[in-house]
Amino acid sequence: MSYVIPAPAQVSVSVVGRRERFPVGRIYCVGRNYVEHAKEMGFTGREPPFFFIKPADCCLVVEAGQTGQLHYPPLTKDFQHEIELVACIGTGGKNIKAAHAKKHIYGNAVVLDMKRRDLQGEQKKLGRPWCIGKAFDHSAPIGPITPAAQAGDVNHAEIYLQVGGQDRHRSHVSKLIWNIAETIEHLSAAWELQPGDVIYTGTPDAVAAVVSGDTAAAGRTQRAATVSDVVVVQTAPPRSGVAHDAGAAQFGADRAQEHPAARPDVGGRSVPVAPTARGLPPPPAPAAPAATT
Ligand code: MN
Repeated sequence: MSYVIPAPAQVSVSVVGRRERFPVGRIYCVGRNYVEHAKEMGFTGREPPFFFIKPADCCLVVEAGQTGQLHYPPLTKDFQHEIELVACIGTGGKNIKAAHAKKHIYGNAVVLDMKRRDLQGEQKKLGRPWCIGKAFDHSAPIGPITPAAQAGDVNHAEIYLQVGGQDRHRSHVSKLIWNIAETIEHLSAAWELQPGDVIYTGTPDAVAAVVSGDTAAAGRTQRAATVSDVVVVQTAPPRSGVAHDAGAAQFGADRAQEHPAARPDVGGRSVPVAPTARGLPPPPAPAAPAATT
């Protein structure tokens, strides 16, 4: 397969104990799924779950033991963190009942869900989509995925985020308004889930801002023991130099330079993504030249 422009790279995340990586498809995020966070955002009560989406290349893939460089994004003065547990889909499906959701989950990871909160607030007031506040480059730092068989009972895990060694978030997944299985039931009623899809389950309360130079470490504890899915990022000054409109190849190369391990498939060569990977029909064959009569 050849393309008229460089093909987007497949984003992938490392898997604890495996050499193979997890390819990221769509990223679904649940809004306001912890009571205390819903309250701090001005809402009360159990509302049906609602979702927003981030493109896969919002991921800032952070390898085990490394610190991701999270550049302060443009257009904001209020760059905020959230910590979330994610469920990574290994087996797709639609209309999945909560009772059957577990077998669709490949594994779990801890992520940050970064916001340009000031922009999100402006868009909310105007009744416009939140994308600019939520789905921007590197808004989704993600650490290694732990396969479900080794992840323990994540529904009762503690998740935490420390900035500069001080707690910002510390809560329990058991406090989710809609638990992981119920979330999968709701999501799969609206979309057919695919292998590679990643579900952000929501943030506890105490969302707050980071500034350039802050180091944020997020993780999960299971029965008081820290487990291997940890993600650490340092907020770095705004990215300079390459503008987003400077061309996909240059932008891709820039990213590969920053995260060579995370984006091994960017920069030097392009990796074709089969258009049938998502069950889409293959592109039409080029029309045969009209026969001349
Ligand atoms: Mn979130």
